[in-house]
Formats: sequence, C-alpha cells, structure tokens
Amino acid sequence: MLGAIIGDIVGSVYEFNNYRAKDFQPFFHPKVFFTDDTVCTIAVAEALVSGTEPSASLREWGRRYWDNGGWGQRFALWIASDDMGPYNSFGNGAAMRVSAAGILARSVDEAIALSDRVTEVTHNHPEGMRGAAATAVAIHLARSGVSVSDIRQTISQQFGYDLAPTVDQIRPDYRYNERSQDTVPQALICAFEAANFEDAIRNAISIGGDSDTIAAIAGSVAEALFGIGDEIATQGVVISAAGNACSAPCTV
Ligand SMILES: [Mg+2]
Repeated sequence: MLGAIIGDIVGSVYEFNNYRAKDFQPFFHPKVFFTDDTVCTIAVAEALVSGTEPSASLREWGRRYWDNGGWGQRFALWIASDDMGPYNSFGNGAAMRVSAAGILARSVDEAIALSDRVTEVTHNHPEGMRGAAATAVAIHLARSGVSVSDIRQTISQQFGYDLAPTVDQIRPDYRYNERSQDTVPQALICAFEAANFEDAIRNAISIGGDSDTIAAIAGSVAEALFGIGDEIATQGVVISAAGNACSAPCTV
C-alpha cells in the first residue's frame, strides 16, 4: 500500500506538468504532497480491514482530506453527497485505490471479489471494474511469488489487456487521460518492466499523462514485486505523515 502512496506523492507534481523522462531529480521533488490517490487508498484499506461500508469510508476520508485535491469532478460530487449511488465510472480512480484488496486476498478469486466490493460503489462500469480487479490480481500474484512473465500472461488472458508494448514504445504517443482502460495496462507495464521499485515509479512518470495515478498503480504492483528500499520507504512515510498541509497549492 505504501507503494501506491509513494507513487502518488512522487507523481503529484507531474500530473499537470509532465516530465517525459526517467531522470527527474530529486526522486521526491520539494513540492510533492499526497493527493486523492493516497486518501482513497487508505479509505479502501480501512473498509476492507474493519468491515465498514466502502462508500462510508471513502466519503469520510475524502471529506477529511478534501483540500488535498485531485478529485475527479463526479467523484467530488459523490463524496459531497450523502446518498448518491454508483455512477458508472470507468475512471482510473478505482485501480489507484485498490491495493489493499490485492494485499488481503488469499486467492485470485478473492482478489477480484474484494476489488469488486470496493469498486462497485462508484466505478461500476465494466472498465472500472476490470481495471481495479486486474490491479488487485497482479498485486496478489506478485505477493505470492509468481514471476513477472507469468503475471503478465495471466493478466493479459484473464482481463484482455495488451501488455506487449514496452515503456519506450508507449511514451511517444501517450496522452493525458483518466480512463481506466488507457491507464491500467500502461501502469502495469511500467511495473513489470522495472528493475526495482524506484525504477517502476520512474517508468510511470516518464510516460506522462495522469502521473500521480499511473505511478500509484505502478507503485502498488512494484511494491509487491520488489519491496521498497528503506530510504524511499522512510521518506514516503514522513511525507505522508505530514497530514493535509500541502506544500504546494492544492488542486481542488
Ligand atoms: Mg491524484
């Protein structure tokens, strides 16, 4: 889960100011902060661990950290409402928040079931459901010691994503979008192609687009594949513990 949070934090300064290369320095830009991807990741984890309604947790955490921003327009309306139902979203927000489902699952079927439980409250479009489930299954398989090549093959077969392109092939034509089907496969490739956790985040930033969310998804899978080094993990915890005091202008 920290992998998703660190991806969100590192990507926070590049979402609207893309940097299309892997050599950005420092790894944590001085103006980074955590955004909606982190807030929703925590909310989903709380729902799955404590058994609270996912919609209640997402609304509670979303309202508490409203100023951290980056909310999708309709998701913001959903948070503000007390009773709005799922709105058929195929946004990438379902996949960026789902890592706890992959961590808690003891089987592929359970990863999908847990993912569905926390996704259907908002992103009940088939593409939203697919993106979150594929991410949760990739995390579960990685934590189970399955090889990258076997995870890649399983996700391709089970979820129908084309995971053949390389990061270098994706980068030139990739454009900003918030669709699950045009975020999740690219983010998974950034993790699968990486040499380690940091490399996965650098891959994710380097393709441009919705950088914090791509890096959150790639980071959640990369954490399961490689673990996170002590130095980056510590910095991520320190920055995320800084609460909602944004060090950069918030983007609500
Ligand atoms: Mg965000």
